[in-house]
Amino acid sequence: MVAKRDYYEILELEKDATEQEIKKSFRKLARKYHPDKNPDNPEAEKKFKEMQEAYAILSNPEERRKYDMFGHNRPDGSPFGPGGFQGVNISFDEIFGGGFDSIFSQFFGSSQKRNTAGSDLLYHHSVPFITAMNGSDEEIEIDVDKKCISCDGNGSSSIDGSRICPSCDGRGQIEKISMIGPFTQRSRQECPSCIGSGRIITNPCVDCNGNGRLNQRVKVKFSIQPGINSGTRLRLKGQGEAPKRNQGRNGDLFVEIDVEQHKWFERDGADLIMALPLSFTDLALGKKITIPHIDGKKLAISIPANSKPGETITISSRGLPVPMNNSVRGSVVIVLKLEMPNKFSNTMRKKLKLISKDLDSELSTIENRLEEESKRRRAN
Ligand SMILES: [Zn+2]
Ligand SMILES: [Zn+2]
Repeated sequence: MVAKRDYYEILELEKDATEQEIKKSFRKLARKYHPDKNPDNPEAEKKFKEMQEAYAILSNPEERRKYDMFGHNRPDGSPFGPGGFQGVNISFDEIFGGGFDSIFSQFFGSSQKRNTAGSDLLYHHSVPFITAMNGSDEEIEIDVDKKCISCDGNGSSSIDGSRICPSCDGRGQIEKISMIGPFTQRSRQECPSCIGSGRIITNPCVDCNGNGRLNQRVKVKFSIQPGINSGTRLRLKGQGEAPKRNQGRNGDLFVEIDVEQHKWFERDGADLIMALPLSFTDLALGKKITIPHIDGKKLAISIPANSKPGETITISSRGLPVPMNNSVRGSVVIVLKLEMPNKFSNTMRKKLKLISKDLDSELSTIENRLEEESKRRRAN
């Protein structure tokens, strides 16, 4: 186990630092290591948590005195309880004099703002590859909490069927004070009695039990543009969950599109890439091949004589439409491959033997070929 660092060392302080100096140093380091300024940096996050803990202790005269006396091994155990330090609500407003408060609040996840809007939803939707060519109009069915029609989302079966919630005095929120070691942590929570509405339903709607929303199966329509990529998220504003009892707006529905694979094409943006396995003689003598294509017209591929495996043929403007600019299309890129038969008949072997001598005479010596090959490889 790594030894716990000294709190003074963490805050870059001398043992006799004044309260002012402690605050100043913490402020400086908090700016430096704040997670917002160091995204995806676990080291900074660790340091940030470490300095919060150090500050929590050293800024409290009583705790500081105990720390000076016993260090990390106090006889009465960790001041943060058996779980150790979990983060405390230090008043950043006081330290930073405002301004910084919002980002710190966000970091601590304290629910200062009322969060009563309906939830956003994410739905995965697969489409065939041809959709990336032509686009499409889609319709899906989802189960989602929507506004209850019977009570128009109020949760009450009569117009004045509610009264002010006594638990929160109509504020919709209650303040919760929890203790972390010697420290108090204040947080605001949605009032459970009135689920944040501030009002108690005295005459609840029978259809939704007073929730103001009901799980319903709904049809959702949307369009997919040509050129769509897998992983694209379409945002359907206001088509997510309804809020509880009309408090706030509807959530959004996100539809993540998964474009199914094509039988032989791979995608590189708007370009379509395919490997074309050919016989030795097709590569040597050249060949014209016609295959069906996803744009509805045949794709004619002309393989020149004396082609080599690995060479590519590019047919422009026959790939997928470019997103947002559908009149432009990518290319089809064909990579030539050599396909060998699984076996040769005796007749074929005899014929091959006949041409093998001629082939050998067209090639340079084996040493030269080895050298040329390695030069090509090293040049890449
Ligand atoms: Zn309440
Ligand atoms: Zn209702």
